[in-house]
Amino acid sequence: MNDQQCRMCGGSLHPATINHIQPFEGRYVLIEHLPALVCERCGETYLTPDSHDLIVRILQGSSTPTRIEPVAVYDLSA
Ligand SMILES: [Zn+2]
Repeated sequence: MNDQQCRMCGGSLHPATINHIQPFEGRYVLIEHLPALVCERCGETYLTPDSHDLIVRILQGSSTPTRIEPVAVYDLSA
C-alpha cells in the first residue's frame, strides 16, 4: 500500500492523521486525527477505504462529539 503515488504531483504517499471536514446534513463535521494518506511532496491528502468507513461510522453513529465549536465561514459569492 505504500507505493501509491500522489495524483497531483506524483510524490509518494505516507500514512498520517489529518483533520477532515465533512459536509453532513447541511452542516459540517470536523473529524480530528483521521487516519489517511498524505503526499510527502505537496501535502495533498487522500482518504483510504478505512478512513471512509470511519467517517461513515461516525456520521451514522449516535456517539457524542468530543466538543462543539463555532466555525468561521467565508462565502466568496457574497
Ligand atoms: Zn503531491
